Amino acid sequence: MAEVRLDFLGDLRRTHYCGELRASDAGTRVVLMGWVHRRRDLGGVIFIHLRDRTGITQLVFDESKNPEAHKRVQELSSEFVIAAEGVVNLRSPDTVNPNISSGEVEVAVSKLWILNESRTPPFPLEENVDVKEEVRLKYRYVDLRRPHMQRNIIMRSKVAFAVRQALSEQGFLEIETPYMTRSTPEGARDYLVPSRVQPGSFYALPQSPQIFKQLLMVSGYERYFQIVRCFRDEDLRADRQPEFTQIDLEMSFPQEEQIFEVIEPLIWRVCEAAGAAVEEEIPRITYAEAMRSYGSDKPDLRIPPFYCVEDLFAPGTLGTEGLPLVAIHIPGVGQLSRKERDEIKSVGQERGLRVFDDVKRLDRDYPDAMAAVRDRVKPGPEDLLILAGWAGVPKGALPENTVLQACGQLRLHIAQKYNDRHKLLDLKTFKFLWVIDFPMFEWDEDERKWNAAHHPFTSVHDADLDRLTSDPGHCRAKSYDLVLNGIELGSGSIRIHRRDVQAKVFAALGFTEEEAKRRFGFLLEALEYGAPPHGGIALGLDRLVMILAGESSIREVIPFPKTAKATDLMCDAPSAVPERQLRELGIRLNEQ
Ligand code: ASP
Repeated sequence: MAEVRLDFLGDLRRTHYCGELRASDAGTRVVLMGWVHRRRDLGGVIFIHLRDRTGITQLVFDESKNPEAHKRVQELSSEFVIAAEGVVNLRSPDTVNPNISSGEVEVAVSKLWILNESRTPPFPLEENVDVKEEVRLKYRYVDLRRPHMQRNIIMRSKVAFAVRQALSEQGFLEIETPYMTRSTPEGARDYLVPSRVQPGSFYALPQSPQIFKQLLMVSGYERYFQIVRCFRDEDLRADRQPEFTQIDLEMSFPQEEQIFEVIEPLIWRVCEAAGAAVEEEIPRITYAEAMRSYGSDKPDLRIPPFYCVEDLFAPGTLGTEGLPLVAIHIPGVGQLSRKERDEIKSVGQERGLRVFDDVKRLDRDYPDAMAAVRDRVKPGPEDLLILAGWAGVPKGALPENTVLQACGQLRLHIAQKYNDRHKLLDLKTFKFLWVIDFPMFEWDEDERKWNAAHHPFTSVHDADLDRLTSDPGHCRAKSYDLVLNGIELGSGSIRIHRRDVQAKVFAALGFTEEEAKRRFGFLLEALEYGAPPHGGIALGLDRLVMILAGESSIREVIPFPKTAKATDLMCDAPSAVPERQLRELGIRLNEQ
């Protein structure tokens, strides 16, 4: 870098932010500070776009009026840090810049301070410049200066503040729980932290504050919340992070209804803070209905439901007898070419479905049944209507949900593929939904045992308590998910607060009493000291902000995210540590 004489900040104070100057400030003497966004050199006059967190102001350096400042401004390059003092002037109407909030004015600079220089940034800091994600993550501090990242991070802060406001107003206390703890029950792999003072022992980083928040209810705190980091060591699928943030809460003596009553106003406030319009009431649907209408436990309500129509056809005529036959309906798709229809068929086939796309033929072959289908679905003239059923005859009993899920995936595939025609999947439409009455258990075919569908502290429906061990497959849980635009924002449940019920659930899950004691003994013991009925929920803050910001990856709303390999490319973590550190921890590495 060329030698640039740098100035001290000294006692110079900023008077205004760039983005807040308006026509009404004309005539005011201001001191602005920020980064050189762009420079335009017209010889005798040089323009600088000065940028700070709030936006951009145009600075004018006029040689005839201020030769000294005009001379120094020539030393500036992109991203230099400067301060400038001058007077706010109205721009002439033909030079007003409607793209920036301070576009009606500019500042005629009389004095310039160069506070720091900058190497040429690794990529331009403009809005729509396509930069490789690895480069962005390596120079994240530069990337975070880009306008869309600033918007996202600012929105995240506003959302977090709205959460705190909404919950504080409803009597929730913000209480911290430990990060160095022992294994929690969410079922993923733990990140472990070795103990130096007790070699051979490890803390686990919490997958959620689940046990601690339940203990806080046992302790009588009634309403707890925390915006909290959680850690899960999973094989990272596309949009997961090893550490992520949850809005976590728990309350005493609630029905499910009360949890919804707490969350709904929180959602309104959050959406207001993010400038998103939402409907007042969040609709509810049971897990069973969600499967029968959307083939998913996280339906995207921006697309209309599908309909099961097997009852309208004589058994065995279409699809597989005893399994669902589904009418998929996507409005506004219009005419499809032969090729496009074939593509839909093959996507269906990959998922085990047989797709009946030739509706004219179906109308001819099954006129009465098809009239009844239309009556149920009510498709418009520009809408796509196809039927889908299971292709093969299943060996043994194939669960109905397998067919419904495949149809749900096909429905989403078509909706996404033709979104430019129907525009239903609009990024500014926000459809929240509660999915309730989840099954209590899920069958694990590999291990041939029942697992908790949510976690093992979830209550069973009162009516299903007696069949916990006799018929686990049909037990419904007092658990609920909040879904937004087809993405699960979070789940929660009413918990088990009685030791005897907890023991039954552990038994149904195949936990021996010993194993249960070893893993969660302190919680089980706490249940014996006056545990009140309690329940709660945790919502993913990263996902919530991602959707509200119209982004498709959570990395766009996390300041310092990790890659899909759980690496931080900027600080190069994880990394090897000196032998001495390992020795202190009593750890010896295997030869690689
Ligand atoms: N701890 C649960 C989770 O992280 C949420 C809850 O049950 O409140 O999924």
